Amino acid sequence: MKHNFGAGPGILPQEVLKQSAEAVINFNSTGLSILEISHRSKEFEAVLEEAISLVKELFELPEGYSVLFLQGGASTQFAMVPYNLLPEGGKAAYVESGVWANKALKEAKYFGEVAVIASSKEANFTYIPKDFEVPADATYLHLTSNNTIYGTQLQEFPKSPIPVVCDMSSDIFSRKINAADFSLIYAGAQKNMGPAGVTLVIVKDELLGKTGRQIPAMFNYQVQIDGNSLYNTPPVFAIYVSMLTLNWIKAKGGVEAIEKENIAKAKALYTEIDRNPLFKGVCAVEDRSNMNVCFVAQNPEHEKPFLKLCDEKGIVGIKGHRSVGGFRASIYNALPITSVHVLIEAMQEFAEKNK
Ligand code: PLP
Repeated sequence: MKHNFGAGPGILPQEVLKQSAEAVINFNSTGLSILEISHRSKEFEAVLEEAISLVKELFELPEGYSVLFLQGGASTQFAMVPYNLLPEGGKAAYVESGVWANKALKEAKYFGEVAVIASSKEANFTYIPKDFEVPADATYLHLTSNNTIYGTQLQEFPKSPIPVVCDMSSDIFSRKINAADFSLIYAGAQKNMGPAGVTLVIVKDELLGKTGRQIPAMFNYQVQIDGNSLYNTPPVFAIYVSMLTLNWIKAKGGVEAIEKENIAKAKALYTEIDRNPLFKGVCAVEDRSNMNVCFVAQNPEHEKPFLKLCDEKGIVGIKGHRSVGGFRASIYNALPITSVHVLIEAMQEFAEKNK
C-alpha cells in the first residue's frame, strides 16, 4: 500500500478513483465512456449542475456569485483576475507570501499598478506577512490562503475595506470559510478537489464589467458565466472527478467535518516534528499549514537515508520543493490519518536507529 504525501497533483479518495475508473469504461450505464460523451449531453449537463450546486452548498455561498469550471490552471487566473477586474490606470494590492503570489502579482503588472503591500521574501517565505494596511483606493486585495511550497497558511484572513481575491489552490474545501468575505476565489483542482485540468472560479457577479477593457472570450468571466462554463469544450472528465470528490466531502459531513480531521492529522505530525530530535519545522509556528507540512533533518546527512526509509514503507511524495529542501508532507483531505501515523512511526524508527 502506498501513502501518497505528494503536493500536487495530490491524493484523491479511493472511492472516487474507483468510480472514475468505471466511468471511463461505461459512464452511468450509457454504454459510453465519460471520455466520449458530449459536453452538451443531458448526462454531462447533470454532472456540471451537480458540481456547481455542491460548491455552493459546501461553501454556503450567498446569492450573487457565479461558479465556473475553467481551464488553464490557477496560473491562468493570475492574469485573468486583473484582466477582468483591474481598470486601466487602476491599482491592485498584493500580499507576497510565496512564489505563487509573486507570479500572480507579476501578471497583474500587465494590466495596471501593483502595490505589494507586504512580503516575506527576505525570509524565503517562512512566515505569512501580516503587518500591512490595505489601501482603500486599490481595486482588490489578492491573497494566497495556503503557500504550498513553504507550508504556511493564513489562519485568519485580514479584514479588508476592498474586495478580496484569494488563490485557494492548495487548501480549497479543507476548512470552513466565510464565503461572503471573498469577492473572487480561484483554485486549480489538482490538490484537494480533483484531477489537473480544471480550475474552479467563484466570482461575485457585481465585480464584473467595470474595467472598460475589451476582453477576448476565453479570458472573459462574463462570457464564461453566460455560457455556464460551456463556451468551449470543457474538461469533462476533470469536472466529473471533481464532482465525485465534492460529493465525497459532503458524505463525510462537509467542510467542517473534513477540517476537524485535517487539524488532527496536522497536529499529530507537527507534534512529532517538534518532539523528535532529528527533525525540525521550517516555518513560523503560528503560520504552519494544515495542508503542507514542511520540515528538515537537523543533520542534512540524514536526508537521503530518511527518504530511503520512507520509500521502503510506501511513503511517497515526501521530498521537499527544490527551493526549500528537506521534506514536505502534503496531508490533503483524502489522505487518511493512518498514513500520517505511518509517517510518524517512520520518523520514530529513524530516530531510534540514529541515536
Ligand atoms: N497557486 C498555488 C498556491 C499553487 O500551489 C499552485 C501550484 O502548485 C499554483 C497556484 C499554480 O497552479 P496551476 O499549476 O494550476 O497553474
